[in-house]
Formats: sequence, structure tokens, C-alpha cells
Amino acid sequence: MKQKSIAIIGGGPAGATLGALLAKDGFKVGIYHTAKRPELIIGESLLPAVVPILRELGIEDEVRSFSIHKPGATVWLSPDEIVPFEFGWAKGELPNYAYNTPRKEFDEAILNVAIRNGAKLVPHSAKLRQEGNSVCLENESIAASDGLFDTPPDLIVDATGRSRQIAKLLSIPTKKGKRKDTALFAHLDSVVMTSPGHIHVDRYEKGWGWRIPLPGRVSVGIVVDPVHLKNYGDRAEEQFDNFIKDNTCIGSYAKDSRRLTSVIKYSNYQLISQKMVGENWACIGDAAGFVDPVFSTGAYLAMKSGQMLYKAIKSDTKEAFEAYEKKFHWELTLWQKVINTWYNGRLFSLYRAGQTMRNNFIGRGIEPHIEKHLSRIFTGEAVNGIYSRGLLEFMSKFALLVRSPKDLKIN
Ligand SMILES: Cc1cc2nc3c(=O)[nH]c(=O)nc-3n(C[C@H](O)[C@H](O)[C@H](O)COP(=O)(O)OP(=O)(O)OC[C@H]3O[C@@H](n4cnc5c(N)ncnc54)[C@H](O)[C@@H]3O)c2cc1C
Repeated sequence: MKQKSIAIIGGGPAGATLGALLAKDGFKVGIYHTAKRPELIIGESLLPAVVPILRELGIEDEVRSFSIHKPGATVWLSPDEIVPFEFGWAKGELPNYAYNTPRKEFDEAILNVAIRNGAKLVPHSAKLRQEGNSVCLENESIAASDGLFDTPPDLIVDATGRSRQIAKLLSIPTKKGKRKDTALFAHLDSVVMTSPGHIHVDRYEKGWGWRIPLPGRVSVGIVVDPVHLKNYGDRAEEQFDNFIKDNTCIGSYAKDSRRLTSVIKYSNYQLISQKMVGENWACIGDAAGFVDPVFSTGAYLAMKSGQMLYKAIKSDTKEAFEAYEKKFHWELTLWQKVINTWYNGRLFSLYRAGQTMRNNFIGRGIEPHIEKHLSRIFTGEAVNGIYSRGLLEFMSKFALLVRSPKDLKIN
């Protein structure tokens, strides 16, 4: 039987993971990917949930060689409340570590597996057009495949990240998140980290930020209401540098640091496509949906969606594609709910509730549960288990009774 031919548009973590798995099985795969990359690629902190996928692709050792070992996550709530979580506390099925990784090298490592497995790299920015309910590659993009797609591919997969080519072409409705923050990020030297290897998530008076340790530098991001950012200047560089200088938390950790790169800006990133598969197309990774940077779920969900679509393509039934769409949509929506509890303050009121109760009889029983299941958010396992999910939901309601979440809300 002739194997299907598949054009994957975009060679980021989603597209390259899918390409690697399909090519290994003998599918005819072309990955359209432009060599021109931005100075910095966002998404440098990985979850333990990524590690099994790296193992499946056979690149964990390579990723380890250029990354920083990440044993946990530390949350800065106030100068007196710096809360470290070790992944080991989750006591789940995932490894108790992950990696903080320079994304250019990381993306290349996955793409190289796809190429080694037999996928063809097409160094071209693919153009698509709509024909009825289908999507077609424009002639110049067919020609760029250099004979690979002498007849049009059976399936076109949109893995273009936030470009969301197919969703835009077909005007697919999206569900947008409530937050309209702007994220600005750059690499700095000499930024202080209190827990070695951890991602640090810092809660500011307005907004929040991250510190991610990378070899020889630290990635610093600030996630702030764009109206508030205007107080710090007009250009992204001015806003980033002035905000950091002025902020109690990041200002003290970065007081002796120098910015090593330009500042990259992201906005309006919380959105989920309401349709992810169609006549001859499918969307994966950010091209299907992205919820929020706070728990570093992006690369994991991108790679996992590549794995899930691979299974649907192998099954080759309409039902399998529909099941992929339903599952990925469901998972993004669940993460959105967990992420909302970070912004509305419930998640860390839950943590505080546990701390308050640990000295009484009931609290001694509940507190380790809170610790375990909060840690599972940082490993990526929280939304996979019915038990963890239910418990988090129950506990975040319960936390409201103990302490108001208002003072932990992200403004
Ligand atoms: C502020 C912020 C912080 C984040 N922090 C983290 C984090 O710490 N950890 C984490 O895991 N995730 C993080 N993410 C999310 C993460 O960056 C993404 O979820 C992840 O990169 C998605 O992978 P992808 O393969 O779907 O898309 P991408 O990584 O965007 O890859 C898509 C690729 O497609 C290419 N492309 C686009 N159009 C075309 C075309 N027409 N032809 C050919 N190629 C094309 C692009 O050049 C790009 O290389 C963050 C996101 C934001 C906004």
C-alpha cells in the first residue's frame, strides 16, 4: 500500500516531533521550515513531562549536553515568601527533573531526528490557499519541495506556531483567554537565582515575571499589562530596562546585570482554535492553541500534540482525527483553568492554607497532599490524572474558606 504523503508547515517542536515519528514509520514527509530564525526563541524552560518524549525521540543525552538541569520551580510571592517546589515532591510517574534549554539548539535537535528518520527539510516559507473546504500548497511551495510533492500531499499539517496559517486562512473561530498582557524578554548576565537550576516565577505588584537559568546567562521575562508598561517608555527596550530597574523583586536580583540581547515582545497569546482538523488538514502546537507562559506548558503541549496527531494519522480514520481534536482542545482548556487560578490568586492561597494548617491535626494530613498536587502542576502531570485534577479543583475552592485570594491576585 502507498504510504501517505504529509506536508508539515513549520519545524518547531510540534512539527519536528510529528515529522520524526511519521518519517520513522515510512510516511513521505516534507517539513517546510525557514532557516531565518529570530535572535531568541521563546519557550526555554521545559517540564518533566517533556523528558519521556525526548527519550522516545532518542535525544535526551544531546539536549542534556547543552541545557541546564532543572530540578524544580521557585515562586516568589513576596520578599518573605519564596516558595521552592522540587519535582520529586510530585511522587508521580514522571522523572523528577527537566531542562532549561537554549531553544535554537533544542529545536534543531528535534528537527535533526526528523531528517535522520527520513523527513525532507524544505527550506521555504510555505504559502497556502483555500479550495472549498480544503487547503492547498501554492505552486511555488510545491515546486520548492524539489519533487517530493509531485502530486499534492494527502495531508497538510499547520505547525506554524503563532502564525496560525490555516486558522487565519479559514477564519476559524478562537476562544480567547481573559488576560491581555504583554510579555517582554531578553537574556541577561549575572542575575541572582535563589534555587539553583529552578525556573523562578516572580509575582510583582503589577504583573509577574520569569528567571530561567541558561548556560552563561539568564532569560528574564516580564508579563505586564501593556497600559502599565507605557509608564516605562515607548520602545520595548526602554520599557523592559526601566521596569526592571524600578521593580522591587527583579530589580534586586538583576541589579548587577547587563542585557546581552535585544528585547523581544509578545502579546495576545492566549487563544484556542475551535477547530483543529478538517478535510485534508490538521493543526498542532501553538497553531492549534496556546494558553499562557506561566507554567511552561507550551513546548510540552506542542510536542504532545505532535505525538497525538501521529497516532491519528496512523489510524487513518475520521474518528481518530476527531478524537485528536477533542483531546487536545480538552487538555488546553483544562490548563487554562489551572492557569486562571494563578491569576485569580486561588492557587497560592491554597498553598498558604496548607502552610497555616500544617500545625493542626487535620492540616498535617492535608498539607502533604497540597504540596504533592501543586508540584504536579510544575511537572505537567496535574491535568493528566483525574485524581489530581479533582483534588486541585476541590482544594482551590476549599482554600477560599481559609483565606481570601485577593492579595495574591496578579494585577
Ligand atoms: C511569553 C511566552 C513565554 C513562553 N515560555 C515558555 C516556556 O518557558 N516553556 C515552554 O515550554 N513554552 C513556553 N512558551 C511557549 C512556547 O514558546 C511554544 O508553545 C512552543 O514553541 C510551540 O511550539 P510550536 O512548534 O507549536 O511553534 P513554534 O515553536 O513557534 O514553531 C513554529 C515554526 O514554524 C515556522 N513557520 C511559521 N510559518 C511558516 C511557514 N509559512 N513556512 C515555514 N515555516 C514556518 C516558524 O518560523 C517557527 O520556527 C512561551 C510562550 C510565550 C508567548
